[in-house]
Amino acid sequence: MKKIENANLKSYNTFGIEGYCKNMIIIEQEKDIQLFFDHDYQADERYFVLGGGSNVLFSDFFKGTILHISTDDIQKREETDQYVLLNVAAGTPWEKVTQYALENHLYGIENLAGIPGNTGSCPVQNIGAYGVEVKEVIDKVEGFYLHSGEPFMLTNSECAFGYRNSIFKTKLKNSCLITSVTLRLSKIEKYTLHYADLKKRIDESLQNLSLQSVTDAILMLRNSKLPDVKEVGSAGSFFKNPIIGQEHYHRLLIEFPTLKAFSTNSGEVKLAAGQLIDLCDWKGYREGDAGVWANQALVLVNYGTATGAAILALCKKIQRSVYEKFCVYLEAEVYLL
Ligand SMILES: Cc1cc2nc3c(=O)[nH]c(=O)nc-3n(C[C@H](O)[C@H](O)[C@H](O)COP(=O)(O)OP(=O)(O)OC[C@H]3O[C@@H](n4cnc5c(N)ncnc54)[C@H](O)[C@@H]3O)c2cc1C
Repeated sequence: MKKIENANLKSYNTFGIEGYCKNMIIIEQEKDIQLFFDHDYQADERYFVLGGGSNVLFSDFFKGTILHISTDDIQKREETDQYVLLNVAAGTPWEKVTQYALENHLYGIENLAGIPGNTGSCPVQNIGAYGVEVKEVIDKVEGFYLHSGEPFMLTNSECAFGYRNSIFKTKLKNSCLITSVTLRLSKIEKYTLHYADLKKRIDESLQNLSLQSVTDAILMLRNSKLPDVKEVGSAGSFFKNPIIGQEHYHRLLIEFPTLKAFSTNSGEVKLAAGQLIDLCDWKGYREGDAGVWANQALVLVNYGTATGAAILALCKKIQRSVYEKFCVYLEAEVYLL
């Protein structure tokens, strides 16, 4: 376990933003977890758990303790003819889990290949891409409550997963340290290919469907739209796709007939936030080193030395202009700290 006072968080977030916190504790091994709760834990301290930092924006000095968990382990817990249960330590890079699935012919998370971040964070916003959400394979989530230091185990249904949402963003927001996630991956070959861009690419270029070819298609699609965080700082999609009522949608259609929409289970309509931002002419916009990615308007970027405050100011301008044009509020998907 490492402890750093007044830590610089620049290398701990994919935006590459310079940010500081009062204290940082790095939990490197399984045994550090108990050590932390036995010796360092203070019930009245403000904690923020940080994984790979690919969904956060630091815009101010954090006056509490950042808990960074980097435990890295994948254990097979159960296997049948149908599925495998994998227990994955929270700090394991998600990329390593999708690679493990690929190498071991396990199905269910191939569409989520290429999403940055660690496994402990994947249930928090129920990561999703190309028609698949991680809730479809999560068996259980284990960890500790930060207000009491007590352990917990939540089943899939107890996690209350929704679109980019879960109990860890609502009732249990900022109050848990997730230490492991158990995934149920299928041994039966089956793909989810209904997402329009993916279907097009598969139809066009893939003769022999396989886990490898689907993964490759997903990675190609992602690379064509998203910046490589090693070169340009970002947190992926900055905003959630907004959900509006049918009446509101039909009113908007009169003025904006090309609006993309997806129906939701609740009978409402999900709009494409990227298209709304694009229609407000933000795509490719740049102000100093803060900007909007030219290939995907949903992605705010740091070209080098942008501050968290500059990215936040740009976020607010975009929210205002989208609201003025469509009467739709864009909620940030990124956690603002
Ligand atoms: C280029 C790019 C592309 C992306 N594409 C996608 C995409 O397609 N789909 C998608 O859903 N997301 C996407 N994201 C967002 C991001 O990768 C995911 O949200 C990811 O799960 C965040 O993981 P992280 O470890 O970086 O979490 P962090 O950014 O460190 O934290 C995110 C949230 O999870 C909490 N958290 C982290 N670890 C723990 C833990 N152990 N216990 C409790 N709480 C914890 C944090 O407190 C915070 O609230 C993208 C990001 C980037 C930069």
